[in-house]
Amino acid sequence: MLQQVFGYRAFRGPQGAIVRHVLEGGSGLVLMPTGGGKSLCYQVPALCLPGLTLVISPLIALMQDQVAALQQAGVAAAALHSALEPAEANAVWEQLQQRSLKLLYVSPERLLAGDLLERLGPGISLFAIDEAHCVSQWGHDFRPEYRQLDQLARRYPAVPRLALTATADPRTRDDIIERLGLAQGQVFLASFDRPNIRYLLRSKDQPKDQLLSFLAEQRGQAGIVYARSRSRVDQLTGVLQAAGFNAVGYHAGLEPEQRRQALERFRLGSDVVVVATIAFGMGIDKPDVRFVAHVDLPKSLEAYYQETGRAGRDGLPAVAWMLHGPGDIPQLRRFIDDSAAPPEQQRIEHGKLDALIAYSEAQGCRRQVLLRHFGETLAEPCGNCDGCLEPRQRSDCRVAVQKALSAVYRTGQRFGAAHVVDVLLGANSERLRSLGHHELSVFGIGTELDRNQWRALLRQLQSLEVLVSPPEARGGLSFGEEARVKPLLRGEQPVELSLPEPTPAARRSRRSASGAAGAAGAAVDPGDPMLAALKAWRLVQARDQGVPPYVVFHDRTLLELAAQRPTTRAQLAQVAGIGAAKLERYGDALLAVLETNGP
Ligand code: ADP
Ligand code: ZN
Repeated sequence: MLQQVFGYRAFRGPQGAIVRHVLEGGSGLVLMPTGGGKSLCYQVPALCLPGLTLVISPLIALMQDQVAALQQAGVAAAALHSALEPAEANAVWEQLQQRSLKLLYVSPERLLAGDLLERLGPGISLFAIDEAHCVSQWGHDFRPEYRQLDQLARRYPAVPRLALTATADPRTRDDIIERLGLAQGQVFLASFDRPNIRYLLRSKDQPKDQLLSFLAEQRGQAGIVYARSRSRVDQLTGVLQAAGFNAVGYHAGLEPEQRRQALERFRLGSDVVVVATIAFGMGIDKPDVRFVAHVDLPKSLEAYYQETGRAGRDGLPAVAWMLHGPGDIPQLRRFIDDSAAPPEQQRIEHGKLDALIAYSEAQGCRRQVLLRHFGETLAEPCGNCDGCLEPRQRSDCRVAVQKALSAVYRTGQRFGAAHVVDVLLGANSERLRSLGHHELSVFGIGTELDRNQWRALLRQLQSLEVLVSPPEARGGLSFGEEARVKPLLRGEQPVELSLPEPTPAARRSRRSASGAAGAAGAAVDPGDPMLAALKAWRLVQARDQGVPPYVVFHDRTLLELAAQRPTTRAQLAQVAGIGAAKLERYGDALLAVLETNGP
């Protein structure tokens, strides 16, 4: 089934176990990161089971792409939603009456409105609840309509329910299990590691230039640039367009029509760079996003994971690139303080931000820190992040650390980093004088480092929890646990830290991951003429049918074709992503493209 219809050789991760479980009539919850391959977990059972599989999905755009992709694979699938013309809806109903459909995608409100369920009743073999975190108020995308899905367990206790989500947070998970009556079922947890994503972090220095030089390495590829504010999005979009990128802006301040067009351009193109606020998110399941760049810090590590997770869903090498600098942090803190959220919630938000700061200041492997945050342990450094690829020069900063800690102590453990650095540098400021800090013994003892270096040092002390900044301190630094602080204060213990260069020299980011061998295995140069010919052919097919290119074939399939250059239909059938229906439909055309452009 897997090979025949989807053209895949084997299940990935827990897919096989999930499919078996469902075929035996079991319900369950699937937690898998974006791009992990959740769809197959219900699509394969849907084809094996006698009746209809109902897929409950919150977004019409996603439904349409999924249905188009299934139809391409020769599967009888359809969607029922509010955007259908009456004639289209009638056609779907007809198919339902003839029992010729295997999968029906519906929105939750459509499922529960009217008598849809009664009419389908006994013919239903499986309920698949996609984006299942929408049932939970703890999740990041609560949808009241999802709440009503608790009826399914009561009304159809014999029909298995498979809930799927990429949100791993335990509270949300428990909520889904309870709401959807999955207690008897099983939880399938895939690793949240996304090995094909290369995490690269850079200190923010000259954001515009840094972004341009990163994008220069990504030219011709699709990606997302996240910026915090609408005005910055507009500004950066202009900069990128002027530099010749196929860039488009996206934020909540644009007209709905403009937003729709931007999304459409991104979906259908393969070299579009969207510059966006976080308003651009839900509903993007474009598999060939090659990079996600953050020019401003996201608001938490969860948000970062989710936003970067939009890169490389097809499993091919992709880059998550982020600029981080101390300048972002006070603004984010203020944002939280000024929000309407209750104090308890604000404290949680500050804590989340702390985790992100610790990640961006971490020494060594980024992926280890990231996964640890999600409760997973990665035994070895990953070899695919800046921490692993570009180990920084570290030196013993014992004396500087002693000075910094003394400055924090002498000023009463209540001032923020900016003030502490002022004291260390002996800044000539009215505020220092009014506090009497110009008379402290630590005043001006740190001129061997510059402002940037001191800031980096303080941040690293924070990530080591030698200094802490509890939420109620509003950025004020104080000592962490005595056991951590004391030996450092006395200078008894070496402290290996890495400080930035003294002069802010323009940094050039190193060569990126694009083209580097990664999860894909197929060694094809992105500039390969065969690949270009295949892509051009695919674009024509996609345009003719009004579907995104990846619905015709994934990049991965084209890469494999370009690398292996099959010459017979039998060889074509061996390529991942070419099942029977696609072989039938495109086989001859592909062989022609391969032959014409061959050596
Ligand atoms: P999710 O819904 O979990 O984000 P998808 O179901 O969209 O992920 O799958 C992500 C990508 O992985 C798709 O391109 C899909 O075709 C591919 N994929 C899924 N399962 C397999 C498999 N067993 N072998 C090869 N590719 C797979
Ligand atoms: Zn690493």
